[in-house]
Amino acid sequence: MINILFLARPGAGKGTQAQLLAEKFNLFHLSSGAILRQEVASGSKFSSEIKEAQLSGQLVSDELITSLVEKKLNQKRNTLGFVFDGFPRTLRQAENLDKLLEKMGGNLNLVIILDISREEMIKRVLKRAEIEKRQDDNEITIGARAAVYDEQTRPLIDYYAAQNKILTVNGLQEIPAIAAELEEIVTKFLNKA
Ligand code: AMP
Repeated sequence: MINILFLARPGAGKGTQAQLLAEKFNLFHLSSGAILRQEVASGSKFSSEIKEAQLSGQLVSDELITSLVEKKLNQKRNTLGFVFDGFPRTLRQAENLDKLLEKMGGNLNLVIILDISREEMIKRVLKRAEIEKRQDDNEITIGARAAVYDEQTRPLIDYYAAQNKILTVNGLQEIPAIAAELEEIVTKFLNKA
């Protein structure tokens, strides 16, 4: 089993790259944002909590997202591995993921940081807002999402650096160049493993 996590600011392209990498290596692309949007679309009892968090740029509770991720991991337990996109976003979630993967006999193998600056993040998210019309991509939520990233998600870099799992890729490159670099990284990892 191989498990890869993308860690990046909103707008860095982690959704795009996570999907490409998952297709390339036949892994399951687990996007927490997508899981939450599906949960809302299905009229779940958590819909209002999720919508409120998304529209204000805040996170849903660690308990809720962890239980939804656990459900998805169980549904897809026969996959070769997972590409995590958007989860974990807090230290508590990172610890939860370690436990969930351990129960499945695996662990997180690689943490890929797609590196873009705060200024580039804001530029890209506002551009995405025009194109995709995602309700939570706007000038009001972007400040909150940037702060949430800095305060709650960035500490994960130290958490995983202490485990020697981090590889940083320059997120300013074109999509195919990043995809090629990632493919090389994962191929090397698999050849060593
Ligand atoms: P994303 O599509 O990954 O940018 O996620 C959109 C929104 O869903 C975020 O702004 C949060 O409100 C919520 N969300 C996604 N992933 C998580 C997570 N791991 N923990 C808590 N909230 C999350």
